[in-house]
Amino acid sequence: MRADYRKAVRRSTEVLKDHGFDRVPIDLSKIFNDLRLTLAKKSYSDFAKTGGLTILQVIEYFESDLGACAYNRTTEQYVIYYNDTKNNPQLDRFTIAHELGHVFLNHYSEVDSDVLLRKKIARWKYRRFENEANCFARNLLAPVPLVEEMIDLDSPMVIPDMQAAFNISFQAANARLGFFNSDLHAIHQEDYGYFRGYNINFGYYCNSCKSGEIGQACFCKICGIEANPYNKIHDRIFYPGFNLDQDKKTTICPQCNNIEFCQDASYCRFCGTGRVNWCISCSEPNDGNARFCIKCGSKTNFYENNFLKTYNNKDSDFKGADAVYYNDGVEMNNVLRVIECPRCGNEEFSDNAGYCRICGLTSYNYCEGQPEYDGFGEENVVYHKNLGNARYCETCGRSTAFLKEGILKSWEQAKPGSEESSTADVSFDDIPF
Ligand SMILES: [Zn+2]
Ligand SMILES: [Zn+2]
Ligand SMILES: [Zn+2]
Ligand SMILES: [Zn+2]
Ligand SMILES: [Zn+2]
Ligand SMILES: [Zn+2]
Repeated sequence: MRADYRKAVRRSTEVLKDHGFDRVPIDLSKIFNDLRLTLAKKSYSDFAKTGGLTILQVIEYFESDLGACAYNRTTEQYVIYYNDTKNNPQLDRFTIAHELGHVFLNHYSEVDSDVLLRKKIARWKYRRFENEANCFARNLLAPVPLVEEMIDLDSPMVIPDMQAAFNISFQAANARLGFFNSDLHAIHQEDYGYFRGYNINFGYYCNSCKSGEIGQACFCKICGIEANPYNKIHDRIFYPGFNLDQDKKTTICPQCNNIEFCQDASYCRFCGTGRVNWCISCSEPNDGNARFCIKCGSKTNFYENNFLKTYNNKDSDFKGADAVYYNDGVEMNNVLRVIECPRCGNEEFSDNAGYCRICGLTSYNYCEGQPEYDGFGEENVVYHKNLGNARYCETCGRSTAFLKEGILKSWEQAKPGSEESSTADVSFDDIPF
């Protein structure tokens, strides 16, 4: 049976996806940490010390001066051994990735032994295992779509650049290039999208803020200077920011941390903040980490409102935010009309009632109205219906009737865990004596 390279490539991509990788060099310790109950790694030095052996004896025992993997069939645990005495951390990375290949490609299910030893396995099988594990390793550490991206940068220095970008040895980078075309055929077309989101340290950069995300932009979205890059470096920076959905809208409100939005909502219904990081001068929708508009260089909505700090500010590290669930509001029926008047408690409404017949409160949580102009310059105000907990209109961002009438508290007061929301009573500061 021939080596199954397609399987090896596919499996390496699956492992990267499963462990949530989004950048190279691949941090292998993440895999060991995630699987710490079933997977461990140990250096030849440590193994020699605990066993009272010399390094040479360890090499003889494993029949390899690079590394080995042992499988305990009772506990179903794997231990990967690597020869650290070569003092070549990049080689160690490849050895460990290779042994991970034997684990993730299930080679142990095809043999009886606990260690994959050359002399205990049929030659053809051993060679297949080795080829598959090497294929897995090179695609785990240097996924072929990313190599393609680097080759597209058309650098005459591609081997040293690949070594630095993927943290692999000269030999591994060479082999990586050698198998480039065959691995390219093995990769699934749909996996390209996944790798497009990867950060590679190497490439063009903004020479003022080192941002690696400059692409075809006119202005650097992080520091706002006119981007004119022609050099490549290895320590580009990828500035974090808000996650946006496919409509370029943030999935968490950058002001009040609400994560509940109606479909198509352009504004947060609790605090009125716009979900799109638009340019305040040309309205271009920008990325979630953009401080400046890539089209015109003006400030963005998120930067203007201090949701993103200046890139060279000590606090510019974006920590992400914890979602907040606002749990107050007025119950509405399926046409967004109140079921019980929130001001007087009246429950009797005729089918087309716009107001409470007892106290006159609106029975719909309309916004204050958005002026629209028809072709003849006539102004027409459009009022949007909103949910019972909306302080602001999700469509136009204007305040709602329930906020203005005091039916709903401000989001700051309603935020679960805030002082205002836990103490409904008058605070002592309000007492005039
Ligand atoms: Zn092997
Ligand atoms: Zn910049
Ligand atoms: Zn909000
Ligand atoms: Zn702009
Ligand atoms: Zn009423
Ligand atoms: Zn509105």
